[in-house]
Formats: sequence, structure tokens, C-alpha cells
Amino acid sequence: MSTLHIIGGGMAGSEAAWQAANAGLSVVIHEMRPKVETFAHRTGNLGEMVCSNSFRSDDHEQNAVGLLHWEMRQAGGLIMDMAQKHRLPAGGALAVDRDPFAESVTAALKSHPRISVSYEEITSLPEEGRWIIATGPLTSGSLAEAIQRETGADALAFFDAIAPIAYKDSINMNVAWMQSRYDKGETEEERTAYLNCPMSKDQYELFIDALLAAEKTEFKEGETAKYFDGCLPIEVMAERGRETLRFGPMKPVGLTNSHDPTNKPYAVVQLRRDNKLGTLYNIVGFQTKMKYGAQKAVFSMIPGLENAEFARLGGIHRNTFINSPILLDEEMRLRSKPHLRFAGQITGVEGYVESAAMGLLAGRMAAAELNGEKLVAVPDTTAMGALVTHITGGADAKSFQPMNVNFGLFPPLEGTKGGRKGRKERYKGYTDRAKADWLAWLTQKALDAA
Ligand code: FAD
Repeated sequence: MSTLHIIGGGMAGSEAAWQAANAGLSVVIHEMRPKVETFAHRTGNLGEMVCSNSFRSDDHEQNAVGLLHWEMRQAGGLIMDMAQKHRLPAGGALAVDRDPFAESVTAALKSHPRISVSYEEITSLPEEGRWIIATGPLTSGSLAEAIQRETGADALAFFDAIAPIAYKDSINMNVAWMQSRYDKGETEEERTAYLNCPMSKDQYELFIDALLAAEKTEFKEGETAKYFDGCLPIEVMAERGRETLRFGPMKPVGLTNSHDPTNKPYAVVQLRRDNKLGTLYNIVGFQTKMKYGAQKAVFSMIPGLENAEFARLGGIHRNTFINSPILLDEEMRLRSKPHLRFAGQITGVEGYVESAAMGLLAGRMAAAELNGEKLVAVPDTTAMGALVTHITGGADAKSFQPMNVNFGLFPPLEGTKGGRKGRKERYKGYTDRAKADWLAWLTQKALDAA
């Protein structure tokens, strides 16, 4: 029987182990807790939830994360099964009793005849065997350094600095216009890489006031509150001087407002395309520690973004993750060392559910490989497929930051492009299509390796 080693028994590692063992592999989970602790975990349990006790929305008809729940359930997912067993009343959300939940995940894994757990910290990259690295946002220092040595300093981040990401079709293009600064760019893709929102002097002054007054979150104890100069929160830049942003990310130079060419804006907020599909745009340089409610209020003051909807809001957190779009192949293997797969938050997905989902796929992919089978690619019309496609190539490697699952990652449905009308039908269309494609993927026979 082939053996798969998994480093990290969190959301991703636990789910990967379950899937691989059920596909016939012998699995060893290497988990450093409780011997080595992190600042966020409290127990030695596998599958511990480090903060909130919610797996977010369970609505699988209108919500992308609810759809991911559904897909994991259809695939016999351990995390969803145990979440259901320890569910607490929470309206449409899937909230759980966290300690019994993690204890059940641990018990299920430990009692599986093909899974064993070795409590140890792995400090270097294994040279032989088949491995999944699922060490999460708080990967221990020595392993993180080993990954950095292999991948290069720029390809591993210790913080995320997330700029808010808006749905393109919620941006008012009667106000915003498409142009790259100094019209740089040879190809159509490069020329449509940026959207610009103009501000007058009065609008800019009001915006700075709101930014300074907005409620912010503090770093948690144990999170180093070191900002790097390249990713200062916008409110910190504003505190350094009212003009700092106008000479930084909001500089109005090299741009002409196509709606009003003679009126030079006092400041410009730029948004950069965030995915190949062109459905998502991030606000350039707008990483922030503002609370979510404050972000929505402050960003709605930007002309063109009055009614913007966000696939994710901004943030800065302690978070170890790799630049997956350049480092991983489509089966989440490290291109330079294909015997190593990555899964979970370290691949640049964000959240318990997304991490467990990538564990589920990595476990299945590893099992198919070790069993001498070839899996057909997961359709990008499914939540699983949309997410894995995003991290392994759909996202822009230059601005790659962790991502939640959202409908902006899905290929548009035929005949529904443009306009926010009929959103309910559109989301139902996405989820219906995803369910059919996911079931087809799950039921098709794995093809024999060529
Ligand atoms: P983890 O669940 O963290 O699992 C990784 C495991 O690897 C851990 O058990 C760790 O001990 C182990 N490990 C690390 N290094 C080594 C090593 N060298 N050798 C052996 N074992 C090792 N997401 C949400 O959806 N909701 C939230 O409320 C939420 N809050 C968060 C709060 C904090 C402080 C952080 C850091 C993250 C939070 N996240 C949250 C994001 C993320 O989804 C979770 O951290 C999630 O648990 C990630 O799953 P994972 O399996 O990738 O990592």
C-alpha cells in the first residue's frame, strides 16, 4: 500500500487525510501541536477552529461558500460531516460547537485503519516520498524558511495585505473609465487592466476625513504589528499627512478622464483587474485595517463605487502563503519538486471552508496519482474548480493575495453578462450548473494514467 505523508492536521490536512485514506492510501499526519504551539490554536486537536466557530453560509443555492459545503458533502467530506453532527442554531450559517467538533475530527482520523498521527514538527522539505504540505497561515518558522529557500524570497509571504476586491459589474462605468497610467500596455489585456475613479478636491478632503475617523481593528497578541513600507494600510498613510495618498496610490498623473477629458481629477482611485475572467477588480494600494462596516461606508464615497459590491474586503493579517499561480501546477504540486503538494490556506485560499476544500482536492489528487490513475481536471464551473483554477493560474501572480470563494471566480453564465438585475437567478444558475458538473466529476471513472 502506498503511503502519503501530510504535514499539518488542520482543516486542510485532516480533510486530505480522510479522502486519501478512503481512496486506499496509508496516511501519516505529522502535526506539531501540542508539542509546538501557535499563537492562535488552543488545543492539540486536529481540525481546530482558531477563531470564529462558523463555517459561514450554508445556502447552497445563493451563496458560493454554501455551494462549497454542498460539494464537500457530496464528496463524503469529513469536515462537513462533523460540522453537521455538532451544528448549533445560527440561522442560515453553519456554526458548530467547536471543541466537540474538533474532538470528533480527531477521533475519526485516529480510528481510521489506514491513518496514523505522528506528533512532531517538520522543519525541512522532505526529499523523498509523497507529501502534502498543509501547515496553514501559521506554518512554523523553520519550515517556512525551508519553503522560502526553495521557492525564492518573493514567493512566500508572512502577511497578507489585502486590498478590497469589487465585482466589476457593480462599478458605475458612467463615472469610472478604463485606462492604464500613461496608456502603458501593448495588448488588449494590458490596456483593460485598470479602471479609474476620479475625485475632486472636495471629495478627496471628505474621503481623508472619513478614513481618519473610521473604526480600525488592532493586531492580535502574538501577531507582529510590523508593517512593510510596501504595504502600509491606507489609513496609516493618511495619518502621515493629508496629501500622502495623493502622492501615493491616489496620484492623478498619466490619466485622462474619458467622460470629461478637460477636467483634471484632483486624485484618482485605481482598480486593477484581479482575475483572467475580468470579473473582479482590486483597489490598488488600499490594504487596510478598517473594520468591515467602516470599509463599506468609506469606499462608497469613491465616485463610481457608490454601489460597489465586494467579493472581499481589505485586511492585513499574519498569514504565511505561497505565490501559487507561479509555483504550483494545476494539481497543486510544487513545479520544482512535484513530490510535494500544497493544500489549505498556505496555497492562498482564505477561510476554514476553502482550506478544507483544497485539502479535499489535494487528498483525492494524491490518491489518484499514487494509485496510478489520472484525474480529469475539476470543472471550473464548480466552486472547487473555480477556487483551484484561481490559485493555480487564474489569479494575477503579481498581486496575488488570499481569496475566499465567490461567484466572481466562476465563468459567466451564457446570456447573463452585465447588469446586477436578476442576481438571484444568476446565482441559482451558477449553483445549478456547479452541482451538475461536480456530480459528473465525482462519478466519472478515474482514467488510467497514460
Ligand atoms: P490550520 O487549520 O492552521 O492547520 C495547519 C496545521 O499545521 C496546524 O494544526 C499547525 O499546528 C500545523 N503545523 C504548522 N507548521 C507545522 C510544522 N512545521 N510541522 C507540523 N505541523 C505544523 N478562517 C475562517 O474561516 N474563520 C475565522 O474566523 C478565521 N480566523 C482566523 C484567525 C487567525 C488568527 C488566523 C491565523 C486564521 C484565521 N482564519 C479563519 C483563516 C484560516 O481559514 C484558518 O486558519 C484555517 O484553519 C486554515 O486551515 P489550514 O488547514 O490551512 O491551516
